[in-house]
Order: sequence, then structure tokens, then C-alpha cells
Amino acid sequence: MKQTHSTVRFFIFLGLVVSSLAQAKNAVDIARDHHQKNAVRIVSEFRDFLAIPNVASDLGNMMDNAAFIEAYVGRRGFTSKVVTAGGAPYVIAEKAGSASAPTVLVYAHFDGQPVIPSQWSSPPFEPTLWTDNPLQADARSLSWDQEQFDPSWRVVARSAGDDKAPVIALMAAIDALEAAGAMPDITVKLILDGEEERGSPTLAGILEQVADDLVADIMLFCDGPMHQSGRRQLVLGVRGSMTVDLKTFGPNRPLHSGHYGNWAPNPNETLMRLLLSLKDDSGRVTVQGYSNSVTPVSELESTAVAAMPSVDAILKSELGLGDNEVEGERLEAAIMRPAIVVRGISGGGVGDKARNIIEPYAEASLNLRLVPGQSPPALLAALKAHFEGMGMVVSDTSPSPENARERHLQMVARPGGYRAFRTAIDADVVGDLKVILDGLGDQETLITPTMGGSLPIYLFEDNLNAPIVILPVANHDNNQHGRDENLRLRNLFDAIEMYAKVLSGLADKGP
Ligand SMILES: [Zn+2]
Repeated sequence: MKQTHSTVRFFIFLGLVVSSLAQAKNAVDIARDHHQKNAVRIVSEFRDFLAIPNVASDLGNMMDNAAFIEAYVGRRGFTSKVVTAGGAPYVIAEKAGSASAPTVLVYAHFDGQPVIPSQWSSPPFEPTLWTDNPLQADARSLSWDQEQFDPSWRVVARSAGDDKAPVIALMAAIDALEAAGAMPDITVKLILDGEEERGSPTLAGILEQVADDLVADIMLFCDGPMHQSGRRQLVLGVRGSMTVDLKTFGPNRPLHSGHYGNWAPNPNETLMRLLLSLKDDSGRVTVQGYSNSVTPVSELESTAVAAMPSVDAILKSELGLGDNEVEGERLEAAIMRPAIVVRGISGGGVGDKARNIIEPYAEASLNLRLVPGQSPPALLAALKAHFEGMGMVVSDTSPSPENARERHLQMVARPGGYRAFRTAIDADVVGDLKVILDGLGDQETLITPTMGGSLPIYLFEDNLNAPIVILPVANHDNNQHGRDENLRLRNLFDAIEMYAKVLSGLADKGP
């Protein structure tokens, strides 16, 4: 009896070893085989998802998106709930492994930027198949009625690239592994954000409600584009972001530029002087105290950047640029510095709207991109001190009657600014995931210390214990946020293989 029992145990043990080896070895092949056989169905489900309009302020449609997701993941054995905290819906879901299984938490968002349909080559919420990026002159649209999909074709629709693909690809990976009897023992949790493009304004409230549901060993942030070189990358950080609006003042009514030019202070010119004072000629921020608390870039991070394929020359040619802001500084290094971007200026009119007047006011909007160590209130204080040093009276209101208008600067930080996030490059999880991803066999994975864009990852850092890395899947030329947003089918298929490999690899590593 005893002998039989231990023999049985031995065979169970042997079986586990064999099946776990099979998983580790075959997850990619299993996923590839699956997406090749099921491409038509997978792409058509992606199309159905993209056809539901998803601008975050459109709550009715956002609830329809959430319902689609719940049904979609429910068919793969996920339990789920839709939660709100005064804004758009979030979907929280879980597919449990055994009690001793490791847990991976996956983040993606299902809202998209607002659209101007007249600018699109095909309607943003009528997903359309194209031979290439529609912005390419020779691209043409195709019928959906295809027996096979060329991986270089694109699906064009809002959120094709940013960020509806991860849910579809992850579920296809799970389908593939389950159909092959190779689903690894892992708990998969999802937090799907319905308001990321608005800055996830209620995410803090959501996390208060569901933090207990999101306990995990590792969190994967599935958003953003792959490296411009087309290489897969493991991204360790994002920049913080905040918006600051500026308004300068001239006479309290428009003045004739002939009668008063040279005499009345011009708010357009005041504004330009203020804006130009923010950086020196070499593009570096000159605001005192602005960069004091910046966490220095470590040697390992510099080495990782240096090891990345340089895309500067090809990008400049693609974008029609001759120079970049700081001569000789590559893109990946530039985005590790704090940035002040003048994102818009308005004062008077140009072209057929131009009039010969000195305007009562002029406005600019700044986007500040933060790096680790910087905080939104400290940057606002540094900017205020900088402008005061130039003789301005700075406040968040219009000038009062007792103050001279031309010395008044109205400065308002929009709500929702947040700090940067970066996982340590020498964290165990980074090395582990690199080994897993390199096991895909096609190319070596790049380790990217930070991406240029911003996500409110700091909230997860504050509320959860799991180490966080960002795993993008979209092609870099996905036109995200703009017209003709697209996903290259190759990226969808590669993502299915990648998720299968990651789930199996993490399960083999254990909690
Ligand atoms: Zn996104």
C-alpha cells in the first residue's frame, strides 16, 4: 500500500516535471500553431472589440466595452467585476491557478483618445483592414473576407495600437495553452482601465476598493509601443506628466498697433520672453531648482541605453528633421532628462485672422514630463520662483485692478499631474523576464530604463507590493492618439506567442 502510494507519487512527480518541461519548451510553438490556425477568428474578435466606441467620457459605450471584456474573459474561466469610482468603468478579473501558483497581474486600458473622424482614412470605429499604415502613400484598404492574413497588414481603428490588443492576445494565448493541455499553473489577474487617456482620474479610488483583489508576485503593464527598431523591449519606467497653463496680459482692451505699438506692452512678446527663458540654446532646462532632486541615471541604466540600436538617424529622416534639441544626444538618453514642452501658444490671429492690434492677453500651455525624484508641486514652485525672478507677479487668478496687468502672470496647474516611475534595472524580476523573453528565440530583448510616455504607475507602486515592468506589444508606427491608429497583425500574433511564453516561464519560476 505504502509502496504503491509512493510509486503513484513518483509518477505524478515525473509527470509534473515532464509536463512543465513540455510547457517551457513548447509554449511558443503551441501559441504559433494556434494563431496560425485561428487567425480569422482571433482577428474578427479584435475587430468586434474595436467596433465599440471607446472615448472615456462616453460612459454608455465604455460600459458596453466593459461588458464585452467580461463576456470575453468569462469564456476563458475568469471571474470578473466592473468597478467605478465616479468615472469610467474598470474591469477587474481573475483566473485562479492552484493555491501555490504564482500570480501575475496584467494592466491594459480599453479607452482611447477622442477622434476627429473626418481626418481618418477609414472610420475610427469601423475597423478596417489595410495593406500598410494608411499614412503610407501606397497603402490600400482590403475586404475583411480573407482566408489568410498577411502579417504585415494593419487593422486600422481607434485603440488598435493603444491599447485593446493585449486582452485579445492574452486570451488567445490562454486558449492556445488550454487547448493543448499545457496551461501552466498560474493565477492571472487583470486590471483593465477605462479612462487611461484622461489620466486615469479615479484610479486612486478604484485601487482603494480593489487593492486586496490585486495582490500579485509581478505586475505587467501592457501598454505603449515597441522600440522604433522593431525590437521587443522590457521597459522599466515611465515619465511623470503635468500640464501648466500660462496667461500674460496687455491693455484691458485691444489697442491699435499703429497708435500704441512701442508704447503699450504686448502680451504676446511678454509670453515669448517667458517661454524662451525656460531653456538655454542647447535645449537644457535653465529653471533654478527644477532638476535638483532628479535621481541620477545609474551606470547600469546608461549601459543599457548604450546597448540599444540607435534609431536617431532613421527617425530624423522619417520625420524630416535635420537636428535634435541637444546635439549628439540620442533619443533614449534625452527622455531620461526632465522636459518642458510648449504644447501650444495663442495670442491674436494669423493669416486672414490677423488684425493690427495689441491684444489684451496671450496664452500658452506647457506639458512637463517628469523623471524620478521630481514632484509636481516642487516643479510648480520652481517655475513660479523663476518667473518672479523675471519681475512677474505670479498667481492662479486674473490680475486684480490694483496690479499692473503687464506684470501679471496667471499660472494654473491642471489637476491630475503625477510623478514618474522606474523599476531598478538590477531587480531580480528584470533578469528573470529577460531570460523568459529571450527564450522566444527570435531576438534579444532590449532593456529600456524608461519610455518617454507617461502612465500613472506610481499609484500601483504606492498601493501594491508587486514589482512592475512594462511590456509593450504595438508597432512603433501605430499612430496612437492620432488619425489612422493601427496595429500590424504581426504584432498581434507575436504578442500571443509572447504571453504564452511569459505565463509558462513565470509558472516555472514559481511565486
Ligand atoms: Zn496606452
